[in-house]
Amino acid sequence: MRLVDGFGRVATDLRVSLTDRCNLRCTYCMPAEGLPWLPSDTLLTDDELVRVVRVAVDLGVEDVRFTGGEPLLRPRLPEIVRGIASHPSGPKTSVTTNGIGLGKMAQALKDAGLHRVNVSLDTLDPERFKELTRRNRIDDVLRGLEAAADAGLLPVKVNAVLMRGVNDAEAVDLLAFCLERGYELRFIEQMPLDAQHAWNREEMIAADEILDLLGKEFTVVPDEEPRGSQPAERFRVLKDGVDLGTVGIIGSVTRPFCGACDRVRLTADGMVRNCLFARDEHDVRSVVRGGGSDDDIAAVFLGAMAVKKAGHGIDDPSFVQPDRPMSAIGG
Ligand code: SAM
Ligand code: SF4
Repeated sequence: MRLVDGFGRVATDLRVSLTDRCNLRCTYCMPAEGLPWLPSDTLLTDDELVRVVRVAVDLGVEDVRFTGGEPLLRPRLPEIVRGIASHPSGPKTSVTTNGIGLGKMAQALKDAGLHRVNVSLDTLDPERFKELTRRNRIDDVLRGLEAAADAGLLPVKVNAVLMRGVNDAEAVDLLAFCLERGYELRFIEQMPLDAQHAWNREEMIAADEILDLLGKEFTVVPDEEPRGSQPAERFRVLKDGVDLGTVGIIGSVTRPFCGACDRVRLTADGMVRNCLFARDEHDVRSVVRGGGSDDDIAAVFLGAMAVKKAGHGIDDPSFVQPDRPMSAIGG
C-alpha cells in the first residue's frame, strides 16, 4: 500500500518535527519571548516516534527529514536517526537545522546513519545575524557547517530567506560564500507561516527578484536536470564563462509546486498533516497510546492523504493561515 492522494500524487517524503522549541528567535519565525511550547507529555516519545515513522516507511516513504523548531535540541537524536535509518528499506534521512549544535553532533549523526543536512543561514554579517535571530551565535553556525562537511553529510545545503531591507543586499555574497565552499544554496520565498501573522506579500522577495539580484554578479541559467518533485528550481551559476555550481530557488508562493508534491508531515505531538498549509490534522498519538496496531497507524496516514487538497491556496481570497506557526508544524 502507498500513500496516494485523491489527485494521484504519492507521498514518499516525510517531514518529522522533533520539537517546537528553538535556541534562536528568527524575527520572521517567532517572537522574541518564544511561544507557548507544547506540553512535554504530548510529545511522542522516542519509541513512539520511531514506530510511527517506520510504519510510514512501510507505506513507501523513502526520505525522512527531521526538523522543528530546532531538531538538534531533541535529546538522543542520534538514537532516533538510527532507529529509522535501520529500517530494511533503507530510507534516506536528513536534518534541517539552524546549525548551532552541528559542531558537536555532526559526526555522531553521520555514525547513526544520517545522510544529509540543510543548514539555515540568512546572513554572513555577525551584527545582522544577531538582529535577525536575536542571538549572537553566527560562529556556532559557521562551525556547524564545517563540521557537517567534515563528517561527510553531503551535499551540505544552505537555506536562506531574503527579506526586503534586511538581508536582500546579501544575495550575491551568500551565493559566493556557498559556491566557494561547495555548499548548495537554496533561497526560500518567505511564506505566511510566522507566529506573529505579520507576513505581507508585497514585502516578500519573490523568485523573479532573487534571480535579478543574482544576475547583477552572475549569469544564472535554468539547470537542464529534470526537477521531479523537488521544490527547488535549480539554476547553473556562471561567471566569465566558468560554471561555478548551482543555486536553488524555492518559490513556494509565486511558483508553487503543489502539483508535484510528494510530502506528508508528522508534528512533534503526533499529528499527521498532509500539507504545510493544512488546517486539519490527523491524530496518530491517540492511536499509538490507545494500543493501536501498525495497521491502525497506517490508516491515519492513509486517511490524511485521502483528503489532501490540490494546492496550498495562498492566492485564494479565502486563504487562512494555519493555526500553528512553521516552528510548531515543522518547516
Ligand atoms: N530551526 C531549523 C532551521 O531554522 O533550519 C528548522 C526549522 S525552520 C522552521 C526550517 C526552515 O524554515 C528554515 O530554513 C527557516 O529559514 C524557514 N522558515 C521559517 N519561517 C519561514 C517562513 N515564514 N517562510 C519561509 N521559510 C521560513
Ligand atoms: Fe528557530 Fe528555525 Fe524558526 Fe529560526 S527559523 S526561530 S532557527 S525554528
